[in-house]
Amino acid sequence: MLISQRLLSEDTAAPGSIPDVSVVVPVYNEVESLPHLIEAIATTMLAQELSYEIICVDDGSTDGSVQLLKELAETRSDIRAVLLRRNYGQTAAMAAGFKHAQGRAIVSLDSDLQNDPADIPLLLAKLEEGYDLVSGWRLHRQDAALTRLLPSKIANWIIGRVTGVKIHDYGCSLKAYRSELLADMNLYGELHRFLPALAFIEGARITELPVRHHARRFGRSKYGLARTFRVLMDLLTIWFMKKFLTRPMHVFGLFGLLSMLLGLLLGSYLTFVKLALGESIGNRPLLILTVVLLLAGVQLFSFGLLAELMMRTYHESQGRPIYRVRQVIEPGVKNGKERGNLP
Ligand code: UDP
Ligand code: MG
Repeated sequence: MLISQRLLSEDTAAPGSIPDVSVVVPVYNEVESLPHLIEAIATTMLAQELSYEIICVDDGSTDGSVQLLKELAETRSDIRAVLLRRNYGQTAAMAAGFKHAQGRAIVSLDSDLQNDPADIPLLLAKLEEGYDLVSGWRLHRQDAALTRLLPSKIANWIIGRVTGVKIHDYGCSLKAYRSELLADMNLYGELHRFLPALAFIEGARITELPVRHHARRFGRSKYGLARTFRVLMDLLTIWFMKKFLTRPMHVFGLFGLLSMLLGLLLGSYLTFVKLALGESIGNRPLLILTVVLLLAGVQLFSFGLLAELMMRTYHESQGRPIYRVRQVIEPGVKNGKERGNLP
């Protein structure tokens, strides 16, 4: 179909060498689901007449998934298997998949058949409308209500408030991205669910789309309640990155100065009491508070300076500019990407 072909054929590379879409799936002990999943993805993509590749990242499975992936990759031309040395977690597995994906658009989804590959064309169509990231929204999510849905609802609400990115379902793995966007982003911790927020920090255009969701047919979920805690910790990181990554001194410097100022005020008062009124101040709790405020102030302030240095190293060592350019329009050229055609 036409979708994505326009979006995806803009690149200057020789036709045929770069697939339209890379489908990235993290795999951890999903041997029974895999054959169904691959079939479903292939059927959908072929029906769309899109060139595609499936990047299966094995995240240290112990159930025969590795063997199956090896066979599939050796016998089929549309599967690339990336085998990690041990279990690193879903975020790392997805990051490895993104790294090996060559497509112009990249789609991620779970390998347990909970996401439905039939939704992929809808996401791609949205990308074509001009978005950089389209996130799935599991409107009728098929998971346990108390241990999964409730924590997820609360987490989604908090994440939305903190990051300012208002989408309903951060946890949905089914997402589509323009490849340029992912090339700019590094993933750590459990950060894959924050991809929309991270992308937003990078200036991306983001939207969401209701998608299907099925109950698990094979195997079992790899997560429990403990994940909520880790997600909240990651959220703190994201919040800090969004607000202060390029200006840490604005937080630490401010609190440091406030603390020092208060310490100085209290200190002056105590000095006055001691010198002018001649009272003893050695046993006053206020003295301890004064000392703590002064010390904390100095420490926060110097920490801010250190953070400024580290921030510069962070950006410069990776060649990361503090801004992202969407497109450059050259003078007298219709489309910024047509530079190569100039005489
Ligand atoms: N997964 C992974 N590494 C892990 C845990 C999970 O690659 O350490 C994969 C897993 O195979 C699945 C996806 O991540 O494709 C989501 O995992 P799961 O279905 O257990 O999560 P849930 O749907 O219950 O949130
Ligand atoms: Mg699942």
